[in-house]
Amino acid sequence: MPAYDPNNIFAKILRGELPCHKVYEDDRAFAFLDIMPRAPGHTLVLPKSAARNILDVDADDLGHVHKVAQKIAKAAMSVFDADGITIQQFNESAGGQVVFHLHVHVIPRKEGVSMKPPASEKEKPEVLSAHALKLAAALKDA
Ligand code: 5GP
Repeated sequence: MPAYDPNNIFAKILRGELPCHKVYEDDRAFAFLDIMPRAPGHTLVLPKSAARNILDVDADDLGHVHKVAQKIAKAAMSVFDADGITIQQFNESAGGQVVFHLHVHVIPRKEGVSMKPPASEKEKPEVLSAHALKLAAALKDA
């Protein structure tokens, strides 16, 4: 497996070198909205540690990322009036991974509504901003 590349786009977001619509942060995890959401509220949860994917991440960091994903899933159910949540996490190109810093997708779902195809449409910044604010507020109260 290739080494972790500190110049991947999510590493740059974590270092504050690129913008994002942040929804949650603690000492070990960071979460922001996917720029091309497959459904409204599509969130990515990352460990702060330099991990390419499930194959090299520290097990405790992986566990923490999933704890945060659960928190976000519960908040997203009410914020986005969802009927369910899809969790996805891809590993290496063959596994569907495109950005090589571990991330868990938390995708609110509505009954009978299909997800958009991956990376199909960039959401308007004002929509992402409004969604991030609502989700962050719900997470503060959680
Ligand atoms: P994966 O690596 O799990 O296949 O997918 C990477 C995800 O990152 C995709 O869902 C894509 O829409 C999202 N993405 C790609 N570039 C950016 C970006 O610059 N900012 C944000 N917030 N999401 C991105």
